[in-house]
Amino acid sequence: MADNPTNPKPSQAASFHASCFCGKASFEVEGKPLFSLYCHCTRCQRIHGSPFVHILHYNSKALTWNHTDPNALLAKSHPHTEWKEWRCKSCLGIVGNESPAGDRWSLKGALFRRDAVSGVIENWHFIRPTGHIFYDTRMLDVNDDLPKWESMEGTSKRLDTDTRA
Ligand SMILES: [Zn+2]
Ligand SMILES: [Zn+2]
Repeated sequence: MADNPTNPKPSQAASFHASCFCGKASFEVEGKPLFSLYCHCTRCQRIHGSPFVHILHYNSKALTWNHTDPNALLAKSHPHTEWKEWRCKSCLGIVGNESPAGDRWSLKGALFRRDAVSGVIENWHFIRPTGHIFYDTRMLDVNDDLPKWESMEGTSKRLDTDTRA
């Protein structure tokens, strides 16, 4: 049976290249993320100065650093969450956040490489977000077809359907 190139199976691992604002820190991740969501929480809003952030979680084994400078990164554990925040030493942009146990990475879709012609993140269908979380604290309404969760995906109230009752 022929594979459908527009709908690859998870076993057909796509890899994603990403870099910081200045490009001195870079990495690649392999395969499908554990989850991919738009987060509207106030923490993301304040840290990133943005209404919402595209967040992807990956198993730590999926990430490989691509920059060659061993001193390219700074890391500091967040005093409240224990997650380790990795920044580029040159541009100070956040490159990724590592879980306290070191078993997963929280990454930002905005750092992923885009197709030069379309401007869309390469292999977008593979990592497309499945919903909006912490939509209760949104700074703007988003009129797409994705589920909107009050807090966590799947376990909190759905705001896009429940409010019509
Ligand atoms: Zn940088
Ligand atoms: Zn958030």
